[in-house]
Amino acid sequence: MEIDASKVSRLDRDGREHVVRVRRTGAQRTIRCDTCGWRRSAQFLPWLKAQEHLAEAHGATVDPPER
Ligand SMILES: [Zn+2]
Repeated sequence: MEIDASKVSRLDRDGREHVVRVRRTGAQRTIRCDTCGWRRSAQFLPWLKAQEHLAEAHGATVDPPER
C-alpha cells in the first residue's frame, strides 16, 4: 500500500473522497479530517489513525485510483 506522507485519502461507498491531512510540528504530528473537522495529535502511526477515522466515521475504505 502506498502512503502519501502528507495525507490519507479514501473513497466511501458513494465514491466521495475523504481526506485526512497529516501535519508535522516538531516531534508531534497533527492529523485533521477535511470532511468533518475531526482532529487529534498522534505521535505514532498517524496514517493508521487517519485510516481508522476514515473507515469508522465516513465508511471510506477504498483506495482512490491513481491520478
Ligand atoms: Zn472525518
